[in-house]
Amino acid sequence: MIFALNSEQEAIQKMAREFTEKEIVPFAQDLDEKEEFPWEILRKLHEVGLANLAVPEEYGGPGIDSLSYSLIIEQLARGCAGVVVTSSANGNSLALFPLLLGGTEEQKERFLPPICEENKLVTFSLTEPGAGSDIGGIASTAKKDGNEYVINGAKCFITNASHAEYHTVFANTIDKDGAKKLSVFMVEPGTPGITIGKKEKKMGIRCSDTAEIFFEDVRVPQENMIGKEGDGKKLVMMTLDMARPSVGAISVGIAQAAFEAALEYSQGRVQFGQPICANQGIQFMLADMATQIEAARLLVYQASWLKDKFLHEKKPFTKKAAFAKMFASDVAMKVTTDAVQIFGGYGYIKDFPVEKYMRDAKIMQIFEGSNQIQRVVIANKLLGN
Ligand SMILES: Cc1cc2nc3c(=O)[nH]c(=O)nc-3n(C[C@H](O)[C@H](O)[C@H](O)COP(=O)(O)OP(=O)(O)OC[C@H]3O[C@@H](n4cnc5c(N)ncnc54)[C@H](O)[C@@H]3O)c2cc1C
Repeated sequence: MIFALNSEQEAIQKMAREFTEKEIVPFAQDLDEKEEFPWEILRKLHEVGLANLAVPEEYGGPGIDSLSYSLIIEQLARGCAGVVVTSSANGNSLALFPLLLGGTEEQKERFLPPICEENKLVTFSLTEPGAGSDIGGIASTAKKDGNEYVINGAKCFITNASHAEYHTVFANTIDKDGAKKLSVFMVEPGTPGITIGKKEKKMGIRCSDTAEIFFEDVRVPQENMIGKEGDGKKLVMMTLDMARPSVGAISVGIAQAAFEAALEYSQGRVQFGQPICANQGIQFMLADMATQIEAARLLVYQASWLKDKFLHEKKPFTKKAAFAKMFASDVAMKVTTDAVQIFGGYGYIKDFPVEKYMRDAKIMQIFEGSNQIQRVVIANKLLGN
């Protein structure tokens, strides 16, 4: 067991760190304040080859290993989690994975190169008002009509909805015995029948876009179904396994940024005639923060390494992916809350970055399977359910 990055991974990590310092950190507060979509940063990420990180080279992506991918998004998240969620929900971890995992060669060659070359956004359209943690509640339908499927349904909380041109949509097909089966489709740019609803105003990751999408008699050719009828559930589960180490990596990035800010502040802030870090009460908080971040990082790196094993050898890693997502996001919440505490009243106001880290951390415990659902997943694995 070698706990060291290779020279290529170190170089990628350094490049992502430098990009973050120069292109994200100076703009993060303003984007958050104005709830402004980070188009310019997305363009620059694409320009330097840090977009669509999960896509192999033959389809126009950078073709990097999963650990490098986590190293990159951890660094970017030190700058702004909203930017990383915007980019990750696209081709890094979420929207393109059903296609990557279940698509035919023809589908990958048709969809991926234009998405990567032109830096197009894609949604992962799964959640509905009646179906959050329980995807069994999905009410959207896809009825077969000749060589087409006709999709109807309402999706909510969809990242990048207002700006995406492609949609990975989950809807129920009906088999010959009348049973509902979750299936997944690629919906292409310009397809009639799609409207964007309310854009949500959020607590954190405010520069990312989250909105409703309505599909009304949206016709897609049958060649746009990924896998076969009924493969939707399997593809959701596999995609979420892929996404969870990434949520873990974003969480580690947020926590690291909050920790570094708190460490520095604690050495400069003087009360009772000495820096506040001279108090053991503050030192213990800093020690716990550093230890928790390190433990979270190791779980994330392990899950990222296992993700490659899954991609190449089909070795399942569901439990380890859940460990990483759950632990790292709980750590991000705890560490950012403690960072605000170390800043005292100054932590609570917007002149300092820690209140943003705390707001951004919260969603990590909720999306891509809430942390209660991660515990359900882990317990099921432990009990062999
Ligand atoms: C900013 C943001 C971006 C998002 N982006 C996307 C996206 O791009 N695509 C997409 O499809 N979805 C997206 N989502 C949706 C997100 O994945 C869901 O919000 C999440 O899965 C939880 O579903 P819910 O909100 O309906 O909560 P519910 O499922 O209603 O859960 C409510 C509470 O009950 C708990 N709970 C539920 N079931 C159980 C159980 N069995 N045991 C114990 N506790 C339980 C949950 O943990 C939670 O605390 C996004 C959401 C947000 C807020």
